[in-house]
Amino acid sequence: MGISSLAISQVSGATKESAQSNKSKESHIKKLQIVCVGAHPGDPEFGCGGTMAKYSDAGHAVTFLYLTKGEASDPKISYAQMAALRIKEAEASCKILNALPLFAGQIDGNTVLDKTQNQEMTKMILALKPDIVFTQWPVDAHPDHQVTGLLPLTAWIRSNRQFHLYFYEVNTGSETMSFTPTDYVDITSVRDRKKLAMFAHKTQDPIATYNDYFKPLEEFRGLEAGVKAAEGFIHFKAIGERSSIIGLNG
Ligand SMILES: [Zn+2]
Repeated sequence: MGISSLAISQVSGATKESAQSNKSKESHIKKLQIVCVGAHPGDPEFGCGGTMAKYSDAGHAVTFLYLTKGEASDPKISYAQMAALRIKEAEASCKILNALPLFAGQIDGNTVLDKTQNQEMTKMILALKPDIVFTQWPVDAHPDHQVTGLLPLTAWIRSNRQFHLYFYEVNTGSETMSFTPTDYVDITSVRDRKKLAMFAHKTQDPIATYNDYFKPLEEFRGLEAGVKAAEGFIHFKAIGERSSIIGLNG
């Protein structure tokens, strides 16, 4: 379980130690800054809400950076009204997962990948001093998801790979494509809370989306990982970090 061993379990070990010890020891625990980027309110929650719940439960700081406010999701409602509704939903959802919601200010259905937006995203991400950034896998049927995958990739490259970069999937089969996880997180213990966070996005028909896509996906990734329910990720590694085939190292 790649991510679990990378960060989550690392801190649960430290937490156990501090419980037996005094307060001064707690200050030595490395609190990780986790940033999860999503095109629309709901993408981080549906794609990796279980993993984010585990991070925040382990004492890490989790920020959801939504590229847009999801303002274009209902043609019968004005952008301003829809944005207001979806900000409220995102705030409710983040409260359940103990995450901080931030909005990058791009427009739903009209996201832009250019020099200026690359600079903006790099600035925003680096200001949060992340240890790990999660974002959407860019091979996706939704153009906003493509942009959301590539902006943080550029930030990662431009910052000389200062943080770990993981990609997550959403609505695999109809949106995310060609996604083969390198790492899995067992979300069995936080599955119900993830569900609550997903269902907070009331304007997005969350029950049908959960039943049609995310419930089977969590179980499918769980089968691959040998647990009841899991979320899968692609850990994007710099060339120097890639391991060799066993027996041919060096
Ligand atoms: Zn989306």
